[in-house]
Amino acid sequence: MEKKNLDWEHIGFSYHQTDYRYVAEYKDGAWGKGGLTRKADIVLNECANILQYSQQVFEGLKAYTTADGHIVTFRPDQNAKRMADSARYMEMPAPPEEMFLEAVDRVVRANAAWVPPYGTGATLYLRPYLFGTDPVIGVKPASAFQFRLFCTPVGPYFKGGAKPLTLCVSDFDRAAPRGTGHVKAGLNYAMSLHAYVEAHDRGYDENLFPDPVTRTLVEETGGANFVFVTKDGELVIPKSASILPSITRRSLVEVARDRLGLTVTERPVALAELPDFAEAGLCGTAAVISPVGKIVDHGREICFASGMETMGPVLQKLYDLLTGMQMGTIEAPAGWIRTIL
Ligand SMILES: *Cc1c(COP(=O)(O)O)cnc(C)c1O
Repeated sequence: MEKKNLDWEHIGFSYHQTDYRYVAEYKDGAWGKGGLTRKADIVLNECANILQYSQQVFEGLKAYTTADGHIVTFRPDQNAKRMADSARYMEMPAPPEEMFLEAVDRVVRANAAWVPPYGTGATLYLRPYLFGTDPVIGVKPASAFQFRLFCTPVGPYFKGGAKPLTLCVSDFDRAAPRGTGHVKAGLNYAMSLHAYVEAHDRGYDENLFPDPVTRTLVEETGGANFVFVTKDGELVIPKSASILPSITRRSLVEVARDRLGLTVTERPVALAELPDFAEAGLCGTAAVISPVGKIVDHGREICFASGMETMGPVLQKLYDLLTGMQMGTIEAPAGWIRTIL
């Protein structure tokens, strides 16, 4: 199969329209049969719930070309389950897991020419999403929905690849107490855009959002979870009800324990203890593991011993393990890799 003629090493993290996407419709209380379409545009009524009241949830996962030339995805069943959790909270019918996985398989197969070759550093990003389509003007959930999945080839999320990031502690909140912080919904991103633009204008790569109640604990950045390494080489994972349950983070916890024999502690992490950590990183499907070099908390600078030039040794080991599993050079735990082609 002939690959598209793209400059794979330099495609960046942006949208490239590919050939096929999956669409399935829910109405009258049931999912219709889904299928592929070449049409990338969506026609909606002006009063569609998604346009007026933002009833939408989404997922993100990637397809990888392995060292031996197969195309695989990483734990897509976990994305299907998380979408079902998100949908339940947002009063939407989740696509059944079989439909979700069929959409993943069919979109990847139909767009195989867009899956970046092994060794380029690029991957095929898959975006499943679900939204309310019928007109609602009085506030209530929609009764008709679309589940869609498109894909786009992407390079590293953070420019500069493994160069450590500089974050600032945000003055804004990402998640309301007892709100939607744990739900993968576009609305969480809409309310983070102002904070994001401000942080960028001031020269920071990302925001660190503290917990919305006390503003003394570390939550996440709005698109990735944190992982920290203590000076004794233990992995510490911030725990809170308003952090999005990252599949990357949950996978790292498992392999850190089982493959590297690390002690892993999931607990609330105070901003005040940040200077005690040796390494800090962000993790997620898009971020993979991106090292954090510096966090600025209102003039107080916290630099991590791993420095501003490279990834620290423990995070580097985790990175190599995770990406090795995704690229097929390291055996993954049973059921983690779904081979598509
Ligand atoms: C998707 C997402 C993450 C990362 O989750 P993964 O499953 O690892 O991709 C982290 N934080 C937020 C807010 C997210 O939406």
